[in-house]
Amino acid sequence: MLTLTSAAEITAVSKEAHRASKCVGFVPTMGALHQGHLSLVRTARTQSDVVIASVFVNPKQFGPNEDFTKYPRNAEKDAAMLAAEKTDYLFLPSVEEMYPPGATSWVSEEALSEKLDGRSRPGHFRGVTTVVAKLFNIVQPDLAFFGQKDAAQVAIVKKMVCDLNFDVRIVVCPIVRESDGLAMSSRNAYLNPEQRKQALVLYRSLMRLQMLVDRGETRSTTLLAAGKQVIAEEPTVKLDYLEIVNPETLDQADEIGQGALIAVAAYVGSTRLIDNIVVHGTAAGKTSPRQ
Ligand code: AMP
Repeated sequence: MLTLTSAAEITAVSKEAHRASKCVGFVPTMGALHQGHLSLVRTARTQSDVVIASVFVNPKQFGPNEDFTKYPRNAEKDAAMLAAEKTDYLFLPSVEEMYPPGATSWVSEEALSEKLDGRSRPGHFRGVTTVVAKLFNIVQPDLAFFGQKDAAQVAIVKKMVCDLNFDVRIVVCPIVRESDGLAMSSRNAYLNPEQRKQALVLYRSLMRLQMLVDRGETRSTTLLAAGKQVIAEEPTVKLDYLEIVNPETLDQADEIGQGALIAVAAYVGSTRLIDNIVVHGTAAGKTSPRQ
């Protein structure tokens, strides 16, 4: 695996691959890699000739009181993990490489970006769409791999790609969980052992809703009340949102129809965690397989 820090060099690599009619797969990350990230790389490896991963902690997607400075960084370990998955290139740019002084342009999606995490984290998705658009222009991938873990991000990136005619196909990969169900996240490293146990309440609440949907419940108000009751069992965990929405528009859904996203965000101590499931109601009340 070759590590490159210059945007021009990565663009040259991609252009060369395309000249040779090779398919370029891209996995953007903020590093502190875990099995969730690596599942994206493995999928990219099976679908692409050349796999490029990026590690960049994007300052533009963090709010002023968020964890940009303390976000875990370990470039050497990340590089070793990516190399072990047969990644071809690691793009590891500096903040100056991505945002040269004087840059004043942004990319913003203006509807979905105000919902779910966007409501709690003003400006977050403008930072995400700006960096993803820049990375797409630099890497010029045919395929880009994103995790369902960040369901709102998936919807917004897909919308941006459609609205702005980016020539890339977004491939969404399932959530990878710890053995007890906690969704893997770089931010889990912030949790002390007590908080690590408390954090499981997010998954528990989703599983309760899955069970109710399996039994035929379709009304969002009933489901959300039951989910909030589960979260309340851990009084130290502060719910940010629990919503049932259309997975594409992120609009609230009154009923579980043919595919609803149930998304939760909560603070465990000062650590904000997110998780979600997608459920499909049918006449028999049977839902999709668990993620
Ligand atoms: P991040 O480094 O948090 O920006 O995540 C980079 C990519 O990895 C995003 O597309 C995430 O959705 C994805 N990702 C993070 N955690 C998981 C997980 N537990 N399972 C699947 N994908 C994940």
